Amino acid sequence: MKPERLLIIGLDSAAPACVFGPGAPRLPFLQGLAERGCHGRLRSCDPPITVPAWACMMSGKDPGALGIYGFRHRTGHAYDSEKIATSLDVLEKRVWNILADAGLRVALVGVPLTYPPPKLDGVRVIADFLVPDASAEFTHPPELKQELQRAIGDYQFDVENFRSESPQVLLDRLHALLENRFAAAKYLARSGQWDFLMMVDMGIDRVQHAFWKYCDPAHPAHEAGNPLANSIADFYRAADREAGELIAACPPGTAVMVVSDHGARAMHGGVCVNQWLINEGLLVLKDTPKAVVPFTPDLVDWTRTKAWASGGYYARVFLNIAGREPQGIVHSDEAPALLDDLTRRIESMQGPDGLPLGNRVLCPATIYNRLNGSPPDLMVYFGDLSWRAVGGVGYNDSILVTEHDTGPDGANHDMDGIFILDGPGAPRGELSGLTLYDIAPTILDLMGLPIPSDMIGTSVMTKGAA
Ligand SMILES: [Zn+2]
Repeated sequence: MKPERLLIIGLDSAAPACVFGPGAPRLPFLQGLAERGCHGRLRSCDPPITVPAWACMMSGKDPGALGIYGFRHRTGHAYDSEKIATSLDVLEKRVWNILADAGLRVALVGVPLTYPPPKLDGVRVIADFLVPDASAEFTHPPELKQELQRAIGDYQFDVENFRSESPQVLLDRLHALLENRFAAAKYLARSGQWDFLMMVDMGIDRVQHAFWKYCDPAHPAHEAGNPLANSIADFYRAADREAGELIAACPPGTAVMVVSDHGARAMHGGVCVNQWLINEGLLVLKDTPKAVVPFTPDLVDWTRTKAWASGGYYARVFLNIAGREPQGIVHSDEAPALLDDLTRRIESMQGPDGLPLGNRVLCPATIYNRLNGSPPDLMVYFGDLSWRAVGGVGYNDSILVTEHDTGPDGANHDMDGIFILDGPGAPRGELSGLTLYDIAPTILDLMGLPIPSDMIGTSVMTKGAA
């Protein structure tokens, strides 16, 4: 049985333990949906990063097929070719292309990698948090911008400087951002001119990064009894209330899916990956920095450098390959042995207690079927994502730091996000083995459309309860 409409509520970084776990706050709307329908952990893509994860989820394609390996990605093999991905970098069809082709009406609010907004007939778009500012054309059709202004006032894209505000000010702004995002979604929901409505709120992700240490007694920087100890649980409760109101704003017969692109976990610190490559003799700078400085290509003596890395929630490691990089020195037939050696050295890295840090090393050439764009040669999850990758250099005391180059941040991403579906014909109970790649096929299945054979996942509608 096909639902009349499908609503998708995306909660960036919503974690299974915070929604389904025994210690989760009471979330009457989200947990009620899960009880009536089905739910489960939703494994993210590798890497479990907002960009590309939502684009993978909406296309049924992996980062290798999309050629997007993180927020910033190389656009060639020049040393300074990194740029921030936009919707124009997504060349594969996402579900709204297919739905629009079938004559269905789509509305999108804040879905990552929808700026600049796609210009498709029948698809109304309010673009994502990467909109540069309100003067940009961030809606499609363009007149939706004024319509939205009249309906809800100024539309907010993100909170600025989210790692540097005072905690209470930041928390208040994040709640305001949540209300604003849901106000836009409720406005479009009430318009009724849609068959598929999807919104993504970034608030839970921002709250977890900023407030995890206040809320998780197991975090190394946790202080018992601090006044922000319930800030994350309270934010989930606020998101739950907003989700309930959004569902109520939809016409009867609307199927509801709730998803996140990855989860979250405590972050214990950062691994200074370029400093480590220097210490290992693989990266050579022209001069030794006298203080900590961001890593920039002009610092490097490329004629003596075999590898360098970009930091972030995970590390992207690049070899300086002859004939590929402008001043490459690693011959391509030496690269496999160097990657093996580098992998062994990264995997044997020790934590502050002298025990293995538990690093995971992934090789894009192995894990993806296609390698479009300019992929890293290796991707590294330090401490299986409990440590981030710090790109800066000049860390002469230790490659492990608890403060890092982008300001305080207590959480990293984790592999598993959440999935909930309540609607006609949906399975019941807890499902296992779900991945983010199952979402696009499930959407098309729910909307009564064929699933392209090159999508990676399978429809949840065909899965039974665990
Ligand atoms: Zn995310």
